[in-house]
Amino acid sequence: MSSQAFLARRVITPEGICPAAILVEGEQIQAVVSPDQVPDRYRVHDFGEAAILPGLVDSHVHINDPGRAEWEGFETATRAAAAGGYTMLVDMPLNCLPATTSGAALQAKRVAAGGQCRVDWAAWGGVVHNNRGEIEALAAAGVPGFKCFLINPGIEGFTMVTENQLRSALPQVARTGLPLLVHAELPGAIDRATETLANADWTHYSTYLQSRPDEAELEAIRLVLSLCREYGFRLHIVHLSTCRALPELRAARAEGLAVSVETCPHYLHLSAETIPDRATVSKCAPPIRSNENRERLWQGLRDGTIDMVVTDHSPCPPAMKRLTEGNFQLAWGGIASLSIALPLMWSEASRRGFTLLDLARWMAEGPAHLAGCDTRKGRIAAGYDADFVVFDADREFVVTEEQLFYRHPVSPYLGETFHGVVRATYLRGNPVFSEGEFPGEPAGREYTANTQHR
Ligand SMILES: [Zn+2]
Repeated sequence: MSSQAFLARRVITPEGICPAAILVEGEQIQAVVSPDQVPDRYRVHDFGEAAILPGLVDSHVHINDPGRAEWEGFETATRAAAAGGYTMLVDMPLNCLPATTSGAALQAKRVAAGGQCRVDWAAWGGVVHNNRGEIEALAAAGVPGFKCFLINPGIEGFTMVTENQLRSALPQVARTGLPLLVHAELPGAIDRATETLANADWTHYSTYLQSRPDEAELEAIRLVLSLCREYGFRLHIVHLSTCRALPELRAARAEGLAVSVETCPHYLHLSAETIPDRATVSKCAPPIRSNENRERLWQGLRDGTIDMVVTDHSPCPPAMKRLTEGNFQLAWGGIASLSIALPLMWSEASRRGFTLLDLARWMAEGPAHLAGCDTRKGRIAAGYDADFVVFDADREFVVTEEQLFYRHPVSPYLGETFHGVVRATYLRGNPVFSEGEFPGEPAGREYTANTQHR
């Protein structure tokens, strides 16, 4: 078993940021000690002034494999993840074919992932209109939780649930003890708004924004909070976009409801005022809202109402973004950012007075807890997997297509300058990304709560 020591001036542990040496035996962290306490037999990697953060965990990724690997796929998504400092991804149950709504579909996913992954992974199960009978089987097969949509997700193979359909599935979900991740938009407010926009100019971002009003999110969040109270399941709100839901979410937590909340880098960086006409590259749902809304989301992170930041990495073939015609109604909604989420977040967070400790909480520890892998992932501490990202927090770079590493280099961030460069990423003690290269063969494994590593 190899003994390695990873040293840096800034090591981000749950206790704080300090100069440290991380002692690694084989695939696991043995201890975190002061840099002058490294025993002789350890092979030393000294990263000097760079920071070492825990490997990031992204609990919201659309890998689209099997079935739509031409959109992304395990090989390219996990390559982009390694380049971005992520060591664990949790795949959403839709966009792949079959959708992950049955035990058989989960098996198909395991086959598709085999030998392809550069980082560890897990798969959420789906709750759709007719798979109530599969929920407990999916839990037994090792999914860390479930995802459902309260609005049509706009893709073949995965259906939304109405309130009644959701009610019939919730006793099963609650029995598993696993979280239910909810895409919280209700169709009513969106349908009403869209009717008034039949003759509007859909090359304007403002038209798209009007078509997905805050009320759609607010009404959905109120509904699932009341169902959470009634059925006692663990509720997680994915990609919160409207700041107007924050007071009710805060009150729900104060009441003791088991609710957690995520938002995404694009909601914390972009704003409606600066998205140009025809820039469908910035289309996602729920939509990017105003500059003021964005600042309130940052406030939600500051006061702890929002627990985590995940990418909602959701690529598609470039033609589906309709970049030449620039029609926001027809374009696929989704923004891919696995490879650059950390520098983006550091650029925005550092100028608001946050530290790398905050980033580690939002982008590693929080998602690991949600995905049930928090006894092995998301922290630099004894007993955890030796998953790290070596991050030059003081360097800056301009985003180019070559740095994206996912299948289709489409991004709203091309040409932007971000602070912080991912120098290297280690998965269970081995480098999976280093100075622009991907050493070794894909060695990522599925993580399931029941069996640890498969
Ligand atoms: Zn998503």
